[in-house]
Amino acid sequence: MRARELRLSEIMQFDEHYVGLSGRRMVLHDLHAFAQFRKDIVDSVGVEPARRMFTRFGTFWGEADAAAMKRLFRWENLEELIRAGPRMHSLQGVVRPVVRELELDRAMGRFEMKVTWYDSGEAEEHLLELGQADHPVCWMLVGYASGYATYCLGQRIYFVEQQCRGKGDRVCSVIGRDEASWGDALGPHRAFFEADKIMEKVNRLSLEIQRRQRALERAEERLGRAPTLGSWLEVRSNSFRRVLDLAERVAPYESSILISGESGTGKEVLARFIHSRSKHASDEFLGVNCASLPDSLLESELFGHKAGAFTGAIHDRVGLFEAAGQGTVFLDEIGEISPTMQAKLLRVLQEREVVRLGENRPRKIRARILAATNRKLADEVHTGRFREDLYYRIRVVELEVPPLRERREDILPLARHFVSRHAERLGLPELKLDASALNALLDYPWPGNVRELENALERASVLSRDGRITRRCLPPEVIESDRQHSPVPEPNQSLEQVEREHIQRVLKATGNNRSEAARILGIGQTTLWRKLKVEEAGTPRRVGPRSG
Ligand code: ZN
Repeated sequence: MRARELRLSEIMQFDEHYVGLSGRRMVLHDLHAFAQFRKDIVDSVGVEPARRMFTRFGTFWGEADAAAMKRLFRWENLEELIRAGPRMHSLQGVVRPVVRELELDRAMGRFEMKVTWYDSGEAEEHLLELGQADHPVCWMLVGYASGYATYCLGQRIYFVEQQCRGKGDRVCSVIGRDEASWGDALGPHRAFFEADKIMEKVNRLSLEIQRRQRALERAEERLGRAPTLGSWLEVRSNSFRRVLDLAERVAPYESSILISGESGTGKEVLARFIHSRSKHASDEFLGVNCASLPDSLLESELFGHKAGAFTGAIHDRVGLFEAAGQGTVFLDEIGEISPTMQAKLLRVLQEREVVRLGENRPRKIRARILAATNRKLADEVHTGRFREDLYYRIRVVELEVPPLRERREDILPLARHFVSRHAERLGLPELKLDASALNALLDYPWPGNVRELENALERASVLSRDGRITRRCLPPEVIESDRQHSPVPEPNQSLEQVEREHIQRVLKATGNNRSEAARILGIGQTTLWRKLKVEEAGTPRRVGPRSG
């Protein structure tokens, strides 16, 4: 999981009597009411104690969010988990943070993070009821950032606000460091993180105050602004982006392009993308799957025929090369065509003309021809199954579409795209992915690539309940792959279940070697045998102890 992949709609639950963040209850508050509350606190206890309370309140909030992020997702690395803090701040509408710098040295225990906060809601609250201050006022925000990072790293991290809108600066900016890195500079700031007696009272009050209506509106507005590229070509991965860049650069020229890649990677979509950015875009895009037709039919499909040219040819028929006009003809699975068809196709490409079956008059063609294959065509040339001259004719440029498992960053954007498409088709406007499904989607290797992902989500959309696609809605093989990876047990499992599953995982990892498994589990072989016996009791399959 990556920080920028977090979506509010997938982790929040909005029902009439219950608003929750993955099981934790939330309450929506109005910013103006909170501004009043803030003023009351400052008036009754003074600025310094009030600052401490709000800093502490923010700290609890940050810690709670960090705990939820850690519990919900498997993060690509520690840095992504830390970046999820500012991301959550943003999703919750508190502020718009931009991380300027993040340096992390686990070995040395050093941490430094510089963040700019745009449009701080807390500064707005302060200005609203208390007016401009002569000191930074984003106390909860500072607490949140500190609490979040502290929880993630397991060591105290302090954020200190350098500039603040509340004291007249254009934006707020903060620096977070570990205690040692701050040294004496932390000085007076440390006190704001310490509890005092009045805290307990305020904790109870302040725990009620977390979300604000405006936060949701802003977050949703931002969600609507996700960048898109073509239909489902929402590309994050560098590997696919490079392919697209190349495609875009060669699209305007007439050079022949061969698109290669595994089945289901979206070769036709890429061909349409090239078509749409070429001089041929104003005319037809016509595709044919060469593997699906026997030679005689493929020939008539591509070149056309005259009535009576063969049995069943009742009318004259225009072939794809002609029908496409100045558009594009897409020959999918070109690696499957017979040697005879290869020779005929080569002639068409060389002469730029076709002869309809049953005629002898050549006709000029103006369409661009794009080809695709899921074979390694170079190997086919090598073994003599594919003509070398045709190969070089169709692949002046080769675009290799990487399989989905090699561009995992694209999985969630694609998944969301498919969900929104199914939502429209099934008439379920509320349909969305649930957080519980994300790990499974990210972990599964997707041997059938984008097509398999699309099918899996179509199935899941149909099986969804209350508009949420949970893990359970996914196909069994996808769930299975997640279960094997999952280091975090589901929160509804008993200890016994967790133990059982863990034992099975270890057994699987050791190739069913029980002595090795017992060693890893830190129990004796007899104990392992007993535990397995209990598990197998009542099932017809019984396995005795195995030595070795
Ligand atoms: Zn501020």
